[in-house]
Amino acid sequence: MKIIADLHIHSRYSRACSKAIDIENLEKYARLKGVGLLGCGDFTHPEWIKEINSKLTEGDDGVLRTSSGFPFLWQTEISLMYKQGGKGRRVHHVILAPDGECVAQFTDALSKIGRLDYDGRPIFGFSSVELMDMLLSISSKFMVIPAHVWTPYFGALGSKSGFDSIEECFLDKSKHIHAIETGISSDPAMNWRLSCLDKYALVSFSDMHSFWPWRMGREATVFDVELSYDNIRRAIKTREGLSGTVEVKPDYGRYHFDGHAKCGVVFSPEETIKHHGICPVCGKALTVGVLYRVEELADRPLGFRPDGACDFSTLLPLSEIIKGVFGVSQLASKRVWSEYYTIMKGFSSEFEVLMDASREKLLEVTSPKMVDAIMRGRNNEIYVKPGYDGEYGVPVFDEEEGDVEVKDDEKGDDGVVENSVPLKKQKGLGDFC
Ligand SMILES: [Zn+2]
Ligand SMILES: [Zn+2]
Repeated sequence: MKIIADLHIHSRYSRACSKAIDIENLEKYARLKGVGLLGCGDFTHPEWIKEINSKLTEGDDGVLRTSSGFPFLWQTEISLMYKQGGKGRRVHHVILAPDGECVAQFTDALSKIGRLDYDGRPIFGFSSVELMDMLLSISSKFMVIPAHVWTPYFGALGSKSGFDSIEECFLDKSKHIHAIETGISSDPAMNWRLSCLDKYALVSFSDMHSFWPWRMGREATVFDVELSYDNIRRAIKTREGLSGTVEVKPDYGRYHFDGHAKCGVVFSPEETIKHHGICPVCGKALTVGVLYRVEELADRPLGFRPDGACDFSTLLPLSEIIKGVFGVSQLASKRVWSEYYTIMKGFSSEFEVLMDASREKLLEVTSPKMVDAIMRGRNNEIYVKPGYDGEYGVPVFDEEEGDVEVKDDEKGDDGVVENSVPLKKQKGLGDFC
């Protein structure tokens, strides 16, 4: 059974997350998007676990289901800040758990060390090695997946506070790591350039902080297994039953290029080298992005593809395509939502529209111009101005229409503000993808 899974999500109890994230909305928007399996997110949070336990039922297969049968796996993310090798390290790890009993034991162990109620993604001062020890003492079936590994601040391979290899991060425990999350700013092809990553499955998830369809499932991993925790775990471990990933163009990610957002400086890795990593406006060190960092650690040429590498598709969210064709400035505008639902009327999910729908069938619900853009998206032919220093990349559509003013434009169809925390305030807190 083909399952499109998004196993790195957050609840409304994580910082900088939409207050409207509840189980009902997660299911509703997953079905709309075409995501068939979600992580439950934030399982260590005392309030969120109450919601999980009251709205989901756990089966013997380690899968949690809503009353209408939508499946979730036990999942959380933890932030670790510690010293190793004489350097300050800050890394995020996604944790998948085999069952509620293991979740309870792990949460209990954490609660003896520190507080869990202030953030769905709690921060601890122990190391990645100690995390592995702690989990393995409860069950060998936990999975730790280093999250968005390349992001400068919280990636295990990040330029600011990461390591030069997964082995350096996990030391003798690295044999228990079977996969890494490539994050929004990198795709599998970039990761193929490091021979030391061949031993890890490359997985992609959204790290969503709101459930809107341009966040949830923007990246996902496709499994071909009968759904159970053990089968998902085995697929990640052996790569049998792991079909590949859905990616956005890595340029879309917030840390693809280098630069300084506040100084308006955007540099390619070549330009950063030319400027010796220093911002020409403020004279401070530039935030070095993912492309630079990959290049720094790569031992293979551009275009190298290792044997047995999984395929991936590169797509932009449908809302981004609609926004681009209309030439409007906001994703969460009435005009974009209205067109989104008009197109979706003819199809079972957004992924069907993006990946499978025929031109003829699309023409029954939308304009030739929109259909062309959807096809260009499917063929990865839409240019994206690279993201940098926390700013998202911007898809560029060569349209004549120009920017149309839209009122009430930061609201979605439910009238919920997509992200109540301004981007700048999220720095150091938000989704560093
Ligand atoms: Zn994270
Ligand atoms: Zn600067």
